Amino acid sequence: MSAAPEAWSPPEPARVRGILQRLARRYGPLDLAWMERSTTPRVAAYLSSLPGVGPKTVACVLAFSLRRPALPVDTHVHRAAVRLGLVPPRTAAGPAHALIERAVPARSRIRMHVGLIRLGRDVCRPGRPRCEDCALAGVCPTAPSVLGGAGA
Ligand code: SF4
Repeated sequence: MSAAPEAWSPPEPARVRGILQRLARRYGPLDLAWMERSTTPRVAAYLSSLPGVGPKTVACVLAFSLRRPALPVDTHVHRAAVRLGLVPPRTAAGPAHALIERAVPARSRIRMHVGLIRLGRDVCRPGRPRCEDCALAGVCPTAPSVLGGAGA
């Protein structure tokens, strides 16, 4: 069920330059303060229109730069969310954003993101998850098959 961890690599400098040039052409001086005054859908739509910017980056900017109720789905969040049944199996990380955000109240999304990352890194790891050490084993649909019916 789980995939190998994704290796993070920094964006290519040329791609970053392209984004900055596009921002400068559209808005003049490189000032992103307008995002703080704009609506979340407008900011999300704008960020999504930039080359190389996907749902995770959009959600990270919304959550951590603008403190908006977004829940970035990285490989750890995705793996834990699938195992917990928050999203159906084989749901790609991109579409998972909308599903997970719908399942989590707005006020809890950033904290849930941080919690799922920690869960995915420390307990719900790639390969065999450590369900025997997981506080969620009693409610997780994956735990019984991992624990072999031994219970949590
Ligand atoms: S019980 Fe197991 S599969 Fe479920 S979230 Fe915890 S570690 Fe992951």
